[in-house]
Parts: sequence; structure tokens; C-alpha cells
Amino acid sequence: AESMVIYCRAGFEREVAQEITAEAARCEVEGFVRAKPDSGFAVFQAHEPAAAEALATGIEFSSLIFARQLIRYATLVSDLPVGDRIGPIVAAARERGTRFQGLHVDMPDTNDGKALSSLIKPLMPHLERALAKAGVVLDEPRSPDRLHIFFVGGTACYVGVSAIANSSPWPMGIPRLRMPRGAPSRSTLKLAEALMVFLGNEETAKRITPGMTAVDLGASPGGWTWQLAQRHVKVLAIDNGPMDPALLETGLVKHWREDAFHYRPKDPVDWMVCDMVEKPSRIADLAARWIRDGSCRETIFNLKLPMKKRWEEVQLCRERIDAGLGEIPARLRIKQLYHDREEVTAHLETLAERDKGRS
Ligand code: SAM
Repeated sequence: AESMVIYCRAGFEREVAQEITAEAARCEVEGFVRAKPDSGFAVFQAHEPAAAEALATGIEFSSLIFARQLIRYATLVSDLPVGDRIGPIVAAARERGTRFQGLHVDMPDTNDGKALSSLIKPLMPHLERALAKAGVVLDEPRSPDRLHIFFVGGTACYVGVSAIANSSPWPMGIPRLRMPRGAPSRSTLKLAEALMVFLGNEETAKRITPGMTAVDLGASPGGWTWQLAQRHVKVLAIDNGPMDPALLETGLVKHWREDAFHYRPKDPVDWMVCDMVEKPSRIADLAARWIRDGSCRETIFNLKLPMKKRWEEVQLCRERIDAGLGEIPARLRIKQLYHDREEVTAHLETLAERDKGRS
């Protein structure tokens, strides 16, 4: 029977299982999840094919927090004969259709998965040739789906599809970012990825423009500030810790040593970003307050999750933010980014302001 395969960071299978179970309940789909600890993925199996269809169309990838990738209508093809792994895969692919927009061949983002990749890479040209020979087209721009193959062992893989409009565009669901030269900390990649995932390059360029103002709460040594200064934004960096001197020399960055929870901007700023190691509920309240008071237009902030009940904690934060916003129309998105470890990153934006700007 067909199932849904969801990738996650290794160690977060339980969270992704909770998340997919909640989604299934919302779509009124009955089924069960299999998620082996530290495997880097979970599988949802609906009890009935019609239900699988309902979930596959009802689920919204961008609303999932712990999911890196979403493969739908996946069949497990196991016991691949070592001499001809490709034959059964091609047959399974043909059952999904003959016209796709692209092909992704992935494996779990684990050590076992990495070991698999040396086995699979050499298969790729053969696989592509065999698919072509079987009449499977992989560059059909009108197809809403890409063909998706997910190897879970040397002789087993899932063959399914991912919807171009409802999945991650990146191989393995991981945006590969290079550490920018000159950025003072690796955390800079977290904000870079957050912008890419929540806004995309075009929208980021529209929403972060030279001369804008931002506050970075818990800024030291300045990886997040660097992302903003790089885009010629004037940043007030708040932290008792030191800031990278090169950042201060740009003339764009001011550094104040004070408590980020007490600081209030005199004039509204465009952006607030926040990456403090603190209780997530405190950060959630802080972000909601900034938006509710009109202190900033949008914010990206990180919620650390060192506790056991991580999914529950994020739900709690979501509720606190909703409550804290009051009547302010806003949109909240939360994602565990590739560069997030035991944490998730959130984007909260006021909608009223945006609509005004657009009309
Ligand atoms: N985003 C930074 C970067 O990219 O370089 C790294 C931030 S680091 C994970 C967290 C920072 O938050 C620490 O430098 C710490 O001093 C600061 N911090 C924690 N609590 C704070 C508070 N109440 N007020 C101001 N800064 C705080």
C-alpha cells in the first residue's frame, strides 16, 4: 500500500510523527506512523487508499515544523536484487506515471545514509537511462510532481512523488549554504537559511532593503547582525557579550550592552531578530509583544528545545504567540531548519502593514 514519507533531522522522528498524526487527524484520516529512532524519517500509512489521497492533498508542507521533505504515494520496493537494483525501481516509478518534473534520489541524513550514497551515486546514470528507455519523462514542465526515490538500505527504497508546490525544492530537503567569508559565527547560516526558507531570495530582497532598521537581541558575536548589515540594514545589536569589531567598523552597527528583555525601541524598526538561549515561552512572548506593539514589522527568532517534549513545547509557544498578539493580524511560521540543532526557527510578520504597502 502507498504511504507518505517524511524526512527530519535524525533524533526528531517522534516530533515528526506527532506532527503528521495531528495533520492526519485534521484531515480526518486514519492510519499509523512508523518512525525508528535516529533513522531520519517517518512513514505514515493510511488505513484506506482514499484516505491516503485526502491526506496527500490536504497536508501543507510549509506548515510542518519538523519535516524536511514530503514524499507522497510512496511504495516500499525491497529485496532489490543486487545484480539489478534498477529494474524494480523503474517498474515502481511507472506505476506513479510517466511524466515528471525532475527526479530526486535521496537517502536519510544519517551516518548510514551517508554510507549508502557511495552505493547509489554510481547507479544514477544507469537509473536515468533505464527510466528514459521505459518511457519515463523527467523534464515535463507541466507535471506538478517530481519523481522521488528514497533509499533506506542497499536493497530497499521508497518510490513516490513530491509535489513541486508542496515540498522542499532541495535534494534531501537540505538547502546547502556556504559559510560566508567575514561572518563572525556559524549561526549566520541559520538566519541565511531562515530567509531562504520563509521568504525566498526574491522576497528577501524586497523586504530587506538598504537603509532599513533592525534590532538584534542576543547578537554577540554578530552572525545574524552580519546578515542584515550585509544587506545595508542599520542594526542595533543588544548583548552583554562582545560584537565582532569588523561589524562595528561598517558604521551600520551600534552595540548596546543591556538586557534584551527590558530594551524597548523608541521608534519602530523594520526587523527584529533574536537568537538567545532562553526559555522558548519567554522568547515567544517577547516576539509577540514586539509585533503587537508595532515595535517591528517582522521578526525571525529561534526557540531552543532542550526539553523532552519538544513538539508540545512548540505548540505551547504557538498558543502563547496567538494569545500575545491579541487582535493584530499576523502570520506565524515555524520550521526546524537544517542549521537548527535542538531548536526551531520562527518567522512572525504583521499582515495589516503588508497589505497597506501593497494596495
Ligand atoms: N545570533 C548570534 C550570532 O549569530 O553570532 C549568536 C547568539 S548566541 C547563541 C546568544 C547570545 O544571547 C549570547 O551572546 C548571550 O550573551 C545573549 N543573551 C542571552 N540572554 C540575553 C539577554 N537577556 N539580553 C541580552 N543578551 C542575551
